Amino acid sequence: MMLVVSSPSGAGKTTLCDGLLKAHRDLMMSVSVTTRKPRTGETHGEDYFFISNDEFDKMQADGELLESASVFGNQYGTPKGPVEKLLEKGKDILFDVDWQGASQLSQTCGDELCRVFILPPSAKALGERLSGRGTDTTQVVAQRMSQAADEISHWPEYDYIIINDDLDKAQEEINAILIAERAQRQRMLFLQDFVDDMLKSL
Ligand code: ADP
Ligand code: 5GP
Repeated sequence: MMLVVSSPSGAGKTTLCDGLLKAHRDLMMSVSVTTRKPRTGETHGEDYFFISNDEFDKMQADGELLESASVFGNQYGTPKGPVEKLLEKGKDILFDVDWQGASQLSQTCGDELCRVFILPPSAKALGERLSGRGTDTTQVVAQRMSQAADEISHWPEYDYIIINDDLDKAQEEINAILIAERAQRQRMLFLQDFVDDMLKSL
């Protein structure tokens, strides 16, 4: 399955995705490419592949991106090759993308997708988290706040909504979503053989 997580910037999706990856070592993160400059502490190849505008345009022209969008004046995209390889191996993949990316993935990947939207508990908390993160200038924080309403307006397009007030509770909720989605009958591709084998021994 493909688990897609979106939120307005600062609502806590990176924090919750990191928690999910720690709790489920078999879940793989799709590492995006971006033309944004790295923040302090971000690592090329782990948080993002930080590339130039020309490199991004070439990847797009060569059809190497599964989806892409311009967000806060920077380009972001999901490299297609790694996703295809992981799906071939039967791995579940986690995507941290904005509403445009979620919408494009819904069109191409359909049933394999589970979409989760993270809301902050209030506008005030969102502003405090964006400033408190300490990674962006006042101008960038203001730009992200001004676009939060647009991102939030897309919440009805998602399958699950989490209000990230208490972090532990929100983490439990997203972990539970992954577990429940994995137990869906149509996702358990091995089930017919498993049941057939059991029936032989009864
Ligand atoms: P996003 O990836 O959505 O932009 P982050 O995960 O970077 O957001 O979180 C933004 C800031 O808010 C970080 O400093 C993070 O530690 C903090 N944060 C995340 N969730 C909570 C929470 N439930 N309560 C308080 N602070 C939080
Ligand atoms: P940030 O700059 O804070 O890391 O991310 C800004 C926004 O870009 C977030 O909403 C994040 O989900 C989104 N984003 C990150 N990677 C991708 C991607 O590959 N595709 C799309 N469409 N959005 C992305």
